[in-house]
Amino acid sequence: MVHADRVSKSFGSNRVLKSISLTVNTGEVLCLVGPSGSGKSTFLRCINHLERVDAGRLSVEGQLVGYRQKGEKLYELRPREAAFQRREIGMVFQRFNLFPHLTALENIIQAPMRVKGMSKAKASKRAVELMERVGLGDKAGHYPAHLSGGQQQRVAIARALAMDPKLMLFDEPTSALDPELVGEVLDVMKELASTGMTMIVVTHEMGFAREVADSLVFMDGGVVVESGNPREVLSNPQHGRTKAFLSKVL
Ligand code: ADP
Ligand code: MG
Repeated sequence: MVHADRVSKSFGSNRVLKSISLTVNTGEVLCLVGPSGSGKSTFLRCINHLERVDAGRLSVEGQLVGYRQKGEKLYELRPREAAFQRREIGMVFQRFNLFPHLTALENIIQAPMRVKGMSKAKASKRAVELMERVGLGDKAGHYPAHLSGGQQQRVAIARALAMDPKLMLFDEPTSALDPELVGEVLDVMKELASTGMTMIVVTHEMGFAREVADSLVFMDGGVVVESGNPREVLSNPQHGRTKAFLSKVL
């Protein structure tokens, strides 16, 4: 589903991603962990066309992200082509980014109506189903300010799912939450994983990684330091940098 082959990215002289290679198979959950500044968000943003890779190849379902290929040559995607690829990818951020002036349901129906041209009736019906799925069946008419952080994040997940993505990216989805609200969001993500959604999750929740992820990638300083089965990496890290990081978050 996602294939990165020696992906590099700089901001000016700051090399943020240095030859990242990894693969996420369809239906798998990959947890991406590492210290602040190691390039995790930048990597997700490259997958989702919010940043462009400088070198290497990045593809989603075999389609190059940011480029299309004709013979040996690469051509940059036009904005419309990039937008088309991006429709298939859902993203959930640390800050929930809900529209404050719209109800939960109105937040969820915006993209299906505007981007996919879905009727309001159809989008609303689906939004109600998604609200139920994330455990908020009775909150459709609530404004974000009247929902807890955990509830807002669950609405944000429902909003992403409303576009029927084939890939979901989560960038520290529980980092902004009070501790007692983390579990309800992780539970929704766990349920999503169990339905076979392909997911890349940047998180410090090692319990989630151990229980739900198929693979764990530890990044530091823009490189993949080590990766593998989450249980193995967590119980027996091979590199000093991984050990030092895990001793702080476990
Ligand atoms: P992480 O998510 O692992 O904390 P980031 O991908 O956010 O790391 O950032 C990695 C590095 O890239 C940091 O040094 C950060 O300052 C830099 N960076 C991220 N985005 C930008 C940007 N838009 N412009 C310049 N530098 C950036
Ligand atoms: Mg980040």
